[in-house]
Parts: sequence; C-alpha cells; structure tokens
Amino acid sequence: MNPLLYFSGLPHFDQIKPEHITPAIEQLLAESRALVERLQADTTAPTWENFIHPLDDAEERLSRAWSQVSHTNAVVNTPELREAYNSNLTALTAFYADLGQNEALYARYKQLKAQPEFASLSAARKKIVENELRDFRLGGAELPEAKKARFKAIQEELSQLSSKFEENVMDATDAFSLLVENAAELAGIPEDAVQAAREAAQKDGKAGWKFTLHIPSYMPVLQYADNRALREKLYYAYATRASEFGKPELDNTSLINQILKLRAEAAALLGYANYAELSLASKMAQSPQEVMDFLRSLAKRAKPFAERDMAELKEYAVKLGLDSLQAWDVGYVSEKLREGRYAFSDQEVKQYFPESRVLHGLFRVISSLYGVEVRKAHAAVWHPDASFYEIVGKDGELIGQFYLDLYARDKKRGGAWMDEAITRRRKAHGIETPVAFLTCNFSAPVGGKPALFTHDEVITLFHEFGHGLHHLLTKVEEYGVSGIKGVEWDAVELPSQFMENFCWEWDVLQHMTQHVDTGEPLPRALYDKMIAAKNFQAGMQTVRQIEFSLFDMRLHSEFDADGSLTVLQLLEQVRDEVAVVRPPAYNRFPNNFAHIFAGGYAAGYYSYKWAEVLSADAYSLFEENGVLSDETGKRFWSEILAQGGSRSALESFVAFRGREPTIDALLRHNGMVETA
Ligand SMILES: [Zn+2]
Repeated sequence: MNPLLYFSGLPHFDQIKPEHITPAIEQLLAESRALVERLQADTTAPTWENFIHPLDDAEERLSRAWSQVSHTNAVVNTPELREAYNSNLTALTAFYADLGQNEALYARYKQLKAQPEFASLSAARKKIVENELRDFRLGGAELPEAKKARFKAIQEELSQLSSKFEENVMDATDAFSLLVENAAELAGIPEDAVQAAREAAQKDGKAGWKFTLHIPSYMPVLQYADNRALREKLYYAYATRASEFGKPELDNTSLINQILKLRAEAAALLGYANYAELSLASKMAQSPQEVMDFLRSLAKRAKPFAERDMAELKEYAVKLGLDSLQAWDVGYVSEKLREGRYAFSDQEVKQYFPESRVLHGLFRVISSLYGVEVRKAHAAVWHPDASFYEIVGKDGELIGQFYLDLYARDKKRGGAWMDEAITRRRKAHGIETPVAFLTCNFSAPVGGKPALFTHDEVITLFHEFGHGLHHLLTKVEEYGVSGIKGVEWDAVELPSQFMENFCWEWDVLQHMTQHVDTGEPLPRALYDKMIAAKNFQAGMQTVRQIEFSLFDMRLHSEFDADGSLTVLQLLEQVRDEVAVVRPPAYNRFPNNFAHIFAGGYAAGYYSYKWAEVLSADAYSLFEENGVLSDETGKRFWSEILAQGGSRSALESFVAFRGREPTIDALLRHNGMVETA
C-alpha cells in the first residue's frame, strides 16, 4: 500500500519514496473533486454533518499526506523529491484555486449561514463559516469568469515562483564552501567550531577546515574570527546568495519582481488598492497605514537607543584597531564589546547548555505550567538525527506528539519552524490527537561531545515550542479552527514569543543547564552577567526588525514593480528612515528574504513586533503571579492555547489578561524605558 495513503496512525517516514507522491496526491485530489461535485449538486439543506464534515475529512487526508511530502522536501531534499514536490504542488494549487472560487460551494455556505439553525451553532462553528465566506471572497468566488481564470493562473504561478525562490536560497547556501588550509587563519574561532570545520573537511577527504554558510558554521566565524579577510569572504558569500553575483540559475532578482507584480495584480482583481490590503483582510491589523504607524512609533522609541548602540560599537572598533566598522566587523566587534563590558562570552555560556539538559529544562517548564508530561517515544523518522516525543496529561491520556529535528545539515532548509503533521479534531471514533514537526538548524555534536546550544539557540527552541504547544494543546474539536488554524497571522507569534521569556528565568535555567565538563548548573555570577547583557544592542535589533517590516509593508503597498524605483532603492529609503547599520552596496538581502517571498509573511513580517506587544503583555501576568505559576499557566492554556482560531485573538487576549494589550511590557522587557 502507498504509505502516503495510510491515515490511521503516524506517518510512515521509513517507507515514503518519491515515487509514492504522484499516485497518492492524484488519488486524494480525485476523491476530493468527486466529493465537491456531489456536494454542489446536493439540493437538501446543508448541515454540519452532510456538508462540513465530509469536506473536513477530504481536506484532512489531503493535507496530512501533503505535509509529509513538504516536510521531507524541506529537511531531506533530493532532486527526485524536489521534482515530485513541484509537479504536485502545481496540481494542488490548481485544486485549491478552483475550490476557492467555486460559486456553488460558496452558495451552500451562504445558505448554511442564512438558515435559522445557524444561530444555535457553537461559536467555533460560526467562526468557521464566517472565515469560509471571507476566504471565498478572497479566493475570487465573486469574480466574473474571465477574471476567475486569470486569478487562478496567478495563484498557480505564484506558488511555483515561491517554491523556486526557496530552492534557490537552499542551493545557493549549499553551493558555497571555503577550505582553510592554514591553521593560523583560524585564530579566535572557538574550538568546537574549528573541530566541526575539521570534521566537515575530513568528510570530503580533505585536509584543513571547511566552512559553509550554514549558521552553525558561518556565525562563529563572523563573531569570533580575528582574521578580518576571512570574515569578509564569508560575509560576502552570505550577503550575495541567490543574486546576480552568483550562479545565474540561482538568481532570485527577477523572481522578486515577478512575484510582486503578480501579487499586485491579484489584489487589483479582488478590488483592493494593493496587496498589503488584501493580506490584512484576514489579520488583526486593520490597514497598511495602521501597521506603518505602529512601526514608525516603535522606531521613534527605539532609534535613540539604536544610535547609542552604534556609537559605542564604532568607538570600540577603533579601540580594537579597526580603521572603520564594516558589515563583517559588526558581529565581531559586538561580541568583543559584550565580552569586555559584561566579562563573558556566548561560547562560555554555551558550555552549560548540552542538548539533553536543555530539553529536560524545556519539558519541565511545560510540565510546571500545564501539568502535563513530555516523554520520549518511538516512531519512524526521516533522518537519524530526528526523534519523537509525546505529551500526556495527568491521567496518562495522550494529548499530542511531536517530531524534533534539531541540527543543521546539507539539503535541509535553513531557519527554524513548526509545522502541522496531524490536526486535533473530533471524529466518529473519538478525538484525533495532534502531531507537530519541530525543526531547527543548530550545531550538531562534534568531537564526541553532546550537542551544545548557544543561549540564542535555546531561545529559538523555546520559540518554536510555543508554536508547537499552540498546535498541540488546543482543545478545539473542529478542524477549521483547531490549533493555529484560523488564528490571525499577526497574532500567531504570541505563544511563540511568550515562551522565549522563560529562557531568562533563574529557576528555569537552574534546571536546564549542566556544564559539559564539570556538570555544574549555570553559576549565579554568570547568570547575572547574562541578565545585565540581555538588552545589549536591543535598540539595534529592534530597528533591524522594523527595517524588514517596513520594507515588506511598503513593498506590498506603495511599490510599483514597473516603476523607476528598484527594490533595492526602496530598501535604501527604508534604511534612511530607520536603520543604523548600513550594509555594503553588494548586499542582496531581498534575494534571501524567504519569509516574504516564499513563506507566508508577505505584508505580514510586522507580525513579529505586533505579536510581541501581546506576548510581552501576556508574560507580564506571569511576572506578577510567579513565572511558573500553574494557575496562571492553566489560564494561559484555557484562554489562549486551547482556543485556537475559535474566536478572535483579541478576545482570547482580553479573556486571559482581563484587559486590552498595552505596549508598556514590551518596552520594559527591551530596556527601552528612559530612566531619568
Ligand atoms: Zn515564530
């Protein structure tokens, strides 16, 4: 049997092969199409049982199979997988585009809402119907035939262009490596990074040290290598990935323009002034102007701090004997300044964070807050580095399960993310429990030692777990709004950024640190230094996030891809307004900005800052009641995590916090409150 068509348990990652993909997806699409035909011909009154349930069943099968395909494509990519992924992506996109503009189905939903029974539906079910009606409109269901065809063609082309954009970034990242043959050039680079580079060269049968553009290899060089030329070489390679400075076939420049033009055209077809308006139609924020006002007011608060950060950095560069502060010096000088001021290094901290202890500490937080237990379990995985866990409740009942794939490697997409494998819902036989994929790109173990994570990596892990818990701890039983489904995009980062806060708590750290050699937990003195350094360069980091957000929002609201201004010139204008770090002219950041050109963050990158207002304010209740307060934890679970998309994010927030959000906690957490 085709392993992708097995739905009564966990995915069979040990059996899935590229040749399974097309037959499975074709069969599921045929089943779905037959169902849609039957439903649109049905003349009886639509009910939840005869209309929504069958649609949910079909959608669940399709998305479960597809999530296995897209996950393996992202983490163990091969040419065969990539080809099968792309050809089926086209078919899927076409199917969903047709579905989105199916007038007969749209009419059935309208009928469902118009019936007197609608009033007695649960809030979750009402929300699903409202969302569907909105999505039909946004999917082009109200367009005349000719425009429908064009709208569908645009959706298909956009999905191919985004997939290609992502592939180019992955291939350009993998394409570069630098073999260092002279040990003297490695001065300053931490021992474990040197060892990893040594092992990477040996794997290729070479002497010397091999560095790549994967973060665990790239970052230590930029942060620690005394050799300025080496830093510059790597910086240049990183900053020009997927641009005209590399292989022409991996250049994303023209893809960017095509994507922007098609998005603008799709928005115009639906009657929106620009793509940003279309993007915001399903978000918390009301208009591009509201978002830009928010970003600019935050920039106003942050910029004086950022300018002070930058002035200090320049001054310190001079002390280090650098004639000027270049882009490839920023990380290096920052680290030296931080070490000088706070008398510790990232590297020193890292020795206290071996993988197993970090996971122990993370699971302890989850257990304290929510009274659940996380334990290792068995399941087929796609790579020996991946593992599997389950979350069980007080009475031993299974709540959810997740896969963990933590290390960076070739043929794996960079960054960190959570994805849904199975979504919680009630079915005829009972509750289907949810399953998540948690993927990171951290340093793998080297030199026979366990994997050691930097504090930043630990924060990333907690962040992704926040998304994971949002998906896994939902109590919603309706497919369409279960877990993160149906949650406004600009509120999705609330549970994730909320989790980051725990990485700074003494009690939490005591239980998740254990020095790799001595076995000692994090000493108080080092912790105090970390806290003192917590907001080091917070101003610079904030304006950087604002730069990306404002660039994204202006790109999708004001920019004309056929106009005289180029994408890079627009980015320069944004930098003139908010940035304090100016990268060299060859920097091609947009060519790697996969969040907005390949991910779901188009006209939505501001969501991180937007949701940080919510997450910081939510966390402030824990600061008031005790950070591991199980009472507050249970309330966070029941009012926010459990609710999924069954009501608006603002309603959930107010139910938890007892009032509307304010920006005070965010400014305080970032140290951006003037102390007179
Ligand atoms: Zn996130």
